[in-house]
Amino acid sequence: MKSHREELWFEVKTRRAFINITPQIEAALKKSGIKEGLCLVNAMHISASVFINDDERGLHHDFEVFLERLVPHAPIDQYRHNDTGEDNADAHIKRQLMGREVVVAITQGKLDFGPWEQIFYGEFDGKRRKRVLVKIIGE
Ligand code: ZN
Repeated sequence: MKSHREELWFEVKTRRAFINITPQIEAALKKSGIKEGLCLVNAMHISASVFINDDERGLHHDFEVFLERLVPHAPIDQYRHNDTGEDNADAHIKRQLMGREVVVAITQGKLDFGPWEQIFYGEFDGKRRKRVLVKIIGE
């Protein structure tokens, strides 16, 4: 069995963003030389997500509105986590809702997606360097 590990770095200029990272995952898969196996992609921070969905602007707007309605960033004093001096309680909860990781099957050297599936990095507390782990195993 072969394995390949790499980290992708992001520094989002805004507090929140959704970034399509499918091209980077395809590049990692190519580098790995693995044709049959599994690919794990996870956020390495507790205020960011990795998830799979459609690369469609309207939908990303809808995610943003949905998350902000459910877990608004402000006022920050509504969250006990922010009593610690942080202001990112909403980001921890948004990450929980959008998920930590995805696992994609690798078949014949390709990510074995369903229709329209793409992999996204979801940032909920940006403006600093953060990482995503890619681990690919198989043969
Ligand atoms: Zn925090």
